[in-house]
Amino acid sequence: MLEIKNLHAQFEETLILKGVNLTVNPGEVHILLGPNGSGKSTLGRVLLGDDKYERTEGSIIFNGEAFDDLEPSERAQAGFFFTFQSPPEIDGVSVKDFLFAAKKALDPEFTSSFKFKRSLEQTLEDLRLPAEFVDRETNLGFSGGERKKIEMASLMTLDAQCAFLDEIDSGIDIDTIRQIGKTLREFLTDKSKSVILVTHSDKLIEEVKPTHVHIFGNGQILKSGGPELVKEIQANGFDAHVKRASSLNVLS
Ligand code: ADP
Ligand code: MG
Repeated sequence: MLEIKNLHAQFEETLILKGVNLTVNPGEVHILLGPNGSGKSTLGRVLLGDDKYERTEGSIIFNGEAFDDLEPSERAQAGFFFTFQSPPEIDGVSVKDFLFAAKKALDPEFTSSFKFKRSLEQTLEDLRLPAEFVDRETNLGFSGGERKKIEMASLMTLDAQCAFLDEIDSGIDIDTIRQIGKTLREFLTDKSKSVILVTHSDKLIEEVKPTHVHIFGNGQILKSGGPELVKEIQANGFDAHVKRASSLNVLS
């Protein structure tokens, strides 16, 4: 479904991604673990097509189509979804209107706004957000955790095929993390879907039951494995992996 090959990308002349290779197939749950500043969010931004980041080498193929020159909206139409680590405020546009417009942009035939509101209220309720949030201006004055819940509601509403969730757990209480895990498991019951999750939350990892775990350091995937890698990182931290990669001259 998603094939990232030798991806290099820079932000304002600084090379951040230094050769990312990652293949994600339908039904898979990939966890990216790595120290702060290692380029995890940048990878998400480059997948999304944020023009602040320049791809300098490598390729991104999604469902057999080259992503590299597509606009973010075209990537969304192809079924790719990205949650922001820091979701922006959208002045003057309610959550309901924002998500309805997004849904309509993806599916021009979509019209049922009454049913849409009902189902959105239910989604918010599941995420422990009061139903009146549907009429509030998107993210305006929302806490960090509330913004993350809106991101989750977007995922459920827009029904993407492959979702990159960037620290969806930050600022979220333990009960809601459990709920997010449940929501993601529901999303993944459709075996054509897949998730890439950047997270530091052991609880969320436990909830989603990853199929693949990757250690991300200095703009690359340093090691890939299964869920056992999480335990190793819990015990030993990231340093050993990053240092070993440096000494092997893998990193520049
Ligand atoms: P991570 O998500 O792994 O913590 P990031 O991808 O956010 O790491 O950042 C990787 C590096 O790139 C950091 O040094 C960060 O400061 C820099 N960087 C990425 N995006 C931006 C940006 N929009 N503005 C300034 N620095 C950025
Ligand atoms: Mg980040």
